[in-house]
Amino acid sequence: MGIYFYIFIFLIGLTVGSFFNVVIFRFKGSGTLKKVPDPLWRGRSKCLNCGSVIRWFDLIPVFSYFVLKRRCRKCKIRLSLLYPIVEAATATALLLLFLNNPTVSYLTVASAFIVALLILIIFLDVRYLIIPDKILILLAVAIVLRLNLNTTINITDFYRLFTVSLSNSLIFALGLTAFFGILYIVSKGRWLGLGDIKLIFLMGFLLGYPMGYLAVVAAVWLAAIFSVILIIQKKATAKTEIPFGSFLSIATIIFIIFNNELQKIATYFQ
Ligand SMILES: [Zn+2]
Repeated sequence: MGIYFYIFIFLIGLTVGSFFNVVIFRFKGSGTLKKVPDPLWRGRSKCLNCGSVIRWFDLIPVFSYFVLKRRCRKCKIRLSLLYPIVEAATATALLLLFLNNPTVSYLTVASAFIVALLILIIFLDVRYLIIPDKILILLAVAIVLRLNLNTTINITDFYRLFTVSLSNSLIFALGLTAFFGILYIVSKGRWLGLGDIKLIFLMGFLLGYPMGYLAVVAAVWLAAIFSVILIIQKKATAKTEIPFGSFLSIATIIFIIFNNELQKIATYFQ
């Protein structure tokens, strides 16, 4: 693929990230700021402090944020750093996915949908410690589509392979979910939330064994290292809730993008 294709993917990523910002900031508003956001599909983007409609040239992903010196053009309130981070993260993840999977197929497109939804989950969980069911349902649909698009063989083989891989992933996903379900009950929901458990089920189903297992282990380690750093810096205590769903999503994204490389490691676990 040529350079223009990758520039195109990056620009799409920025645009999708910009839309994710609308989803994130209209989900519950902006905490300390006074304006109640419009419903997701209604109204133009407004400043959450002064309510002024944001002009189109101030809505260019990442770029506008820095041109405006990180402030609203009207009321000069400081804008959240989350805006450019969400846009840059979405664009970077999609670019890496297509760089690492240069043959564009239905499989890569379905993977791109899954990666994008996981990025949205990362930032919703960081901001609100919530993984909305609506997003999880969209993710489940994307995962089932990806399963379906996975094979290009004749229909009886397809059916056989589909049911075998389906039941294998399903059994593994249920086992993984049961394990974390017990942790949820034992910790009375302090170590992880119900949203995390639903996400773990989808991860297990998407990645199967051993990739799903390795991804969850990686997520637990990432979350643990992150918590220890916060505790050392005295920014958190052992009781602080951490966005575990974000770490699960980051691990899943890495396992989707670097699937081929990680498969080699996974053979040791089979
Ligand atoms: Zn304003």
